[in-house]
Formats: sequence, structure tokens, C-alpha cells
Amino acid sequence: MSFVLPSRRADQPDQFDVAIVGAGPGGMTAAIYCSRARLATVVLERNTAGGIMAITERIENYPGFPEGITGFDLSEKMKQQAAQFGADLREITTVAALDRQADGSWIVVTDEERIAARAIILSPGVEARKLGVPGEAEFMGRGVSYCATCDGALYRDKEVVVIGGGDSAVEEGMFLAKFASAVHVIHRRDELRAQKIAQERAFANPRMHFIWNSQVRRIVGDTKVEGVDYQNVVDKAVTTLPVSGVFFYVGQLPNTNFLQGVVDLDDGGYILTDEHLRTSQPGVLACGDARAGLIKQIANAVGEGALAAIETEKYLDTLEPVAQVAPAAESADTTAGA
Ligand code: NAP
Repeated sequence: MSFVLPSRRADQPDQFDVAIVGAGPGGMTAAIYCSRARLATVVLERNTAGGIMAITERIENYPGFPEGITGFDLSEKMKQQAAQFGADLREITTVAALDRQADGSWIVVTDEERIAARAIILSPGVEARKLGVPGEAEFMGRGVSYCATCDGALYRDKEVVVIGGGDSAVEEGMFLAKFASAVHVIHRRDELRAQKIAQERAFANPRMHFIWNSQVRRIVGDTKVEGVDYQNVVDKAVTTLPVSGVFFYVGQLPNTNFLQGVVDLDDGGYILTDEHLRTSQPGVLACGDARAGLIKQIANAVGEGALAAIETEKYLDTLEPVAQVAPAAESADTTAGA
């Protein structure tokens, strides 16, 4: 049972039972469970709620939405659900460091403040991997993009390239095909990694074109993207393809730099846990895409968020009860998530 409520004293960090790092589907599910269990819960999100889910055009494989749902709408629903049980969601707040205290509790250092928490749930998610080809950084925002949902409408009746052969490349390529006159998917092998249903739809779409066994070598243009040079990896021939936009979907990297030396990570930077989602530090659990797990799916992140929250509650129950923090004289606001 918990007795801590967040304080609002100017001379002390806000105090919570649990700080959740990241407001993707895993973090927001953990927030729903923790706040509903009457734990004082704060969620710290460097962007806005939803993470990569929020910029996914359409989600068809999350149960309960037979018509499909946009990533933005699903993010908003999860956010509302966490807020209604009292979770305190702080967006545009980047966690820089986690400092373990002598009593086993944690200070979470953000770009704006220091927050005290007795337990931590890590759900920092992943971000798009950069390919590192010439032109990629130079033309960022001038034809190079990692987000079809954000930028797709800019390419109405123009030709674009998508790089990659996974679920993101194929699904976001299909979204781009609603605007672009042609979407050229350049893939390094002759077979896609994407799920079969996505492949079938993409092959049936006349605006989708596939360039197999090929690697993009360079993005060309003057002040904005005008084309790509790609090389066939079999015959080594280089071809220039005139396009206005290039969308990179060559995989993802976990947002775990701030966790180096804090919890154990695998060689790829993913957070290592046991089957209870406990990390190498007591009272620190992890869930979602940044955890070293088998699959990266919203449904899986949601399940992990629930487990991480329940395990956190169990962990807090093993600790000595803490006296309630007295509210500061200047503020009577002590309700969780206020
Ligand atoms: P991904 O599955 O890792 O696919 C990355 C793609 O980029 C692969 O096709 C890969 O080629 C290619 N690639 C990697 N490095 C490359 C390089 N240096 N040069 C050229 N191509 C390169 O990444 P993702 O598509 O972003 O998906 C990430 C995770 O989210 C996956 O687990 C995926 O299943 C999941 N996801 C699921 C859904 C859904 O369920 N609807 C939607 C989106 C994402 P190879 O195939 O040759 O390795």
C-alpha cells in the first residue's frame, strides 16, 4: 500500500510512487494500471503521447477496432484513460538521467526538473534508424523524411522513394500512395520482410513499384531532393531515379542512451529484463519496444505495460510504508496527477 502523494514544495522535487519514462502504448498502459491502483504516477514523455504509434497512419491489428484506428486517435484514447485515473502526464519533457538514492529510491533528472520516485517503469520506445547515405542529413526536411503520416500530403502527384522492406516501409508506402503518383520501394533483397497481408495489398496497388536487390547510394539535388542514385547489388549497375521525396524505413533504434550504466542493456542497446520485466536494478521495470523482446507490436507493448505496473505494485508493497508528504503551505494541491 502506498502513502506517498506528490508534493508541490518549491524546495523539494515532486514525489511519486512511480515515474514512467515514455508515453507510448506500454508506458500509457502502465500509467492506467498504476494510477488505477492508486499509486501516485507521473509519466515523462520527450515528445507527445503515443510515441511511434501516434505517427502510424492506420492500425488494423490492435484488438477492439475492427474498422482500424489511426495511431493518433488510439494515442489520444490511451492518454485520456490514463488521465482519468489521475496519472500526471508531462509531455515535451526529456529524461536526462536516473540517480539511485541511498535508500533505493530514484531521482529522475529531466531537462526541467528533478522528480523523486520509489519505482521506475522504463518505456522509452524506439526511433527511426538513419541509413547514413550522402544527402540524407543535408536534405532532412527538404525531401528526406522518416514520417509518412507527417509529410505524405506534401507529395501529392509527385514520385517518392521508400527505403526498406519491413512492415513500416510497406504500410507507410501504401499511405504515401494515396498522395504520390508513384511510390518506389527500394529494398536490398528480393523478398519483403513485411507481413503477408501488407505485401499482398502493396503488390496489388498500381502506384507501388518495387526495385529489388538494390541499395540507395546517394540522394541528389540542389536545395531539395531531386532524385536518388541506387545500385543493384547483383550486377552493380547504378541508376538515377528522379523523385521529390525519400522516406527511410530501415529499422529502429532504442531510445536508451540515458540508461547506459544504469541498467543492463544488450549489444543493440535494448533493455534486458527477466520474465517479470524486472531490469538489473531493483524497482526498475521495463516494457515496450525498447525492451529486448521478441516482437515489436502495440498489443505486446500494452501487455508488457500491464505486467510492469503489476510487478511495480508488488515491489512497492515490499518496501516500508512511507509517511505522507505534507503539502507545501502555498499549495493545497496534493492529488495524484493534479
Ligand atoms: P524492420 O522490421 O527492422 O525492417 C527494416 C527494413 O529495412 C528491412 O527490410 C531491412 O532489410 C531494411 N534495412 C535494414 N538495414 C538496411 C540497410 N543498411 N540498407 C537497406 N535496407 C536496410 O523495421 P520496421 O519495418 O520499422 O519495423 C520495426 C518493428 O515494428 C518490426 O518488428 C515490425 O514487425 C513492427 N511493426 C509492425 C507493424 C504492424 O504490425 N502492422 C507496423 C510497423 C512496424 P532486410 O529485410 O533485408 O533485413
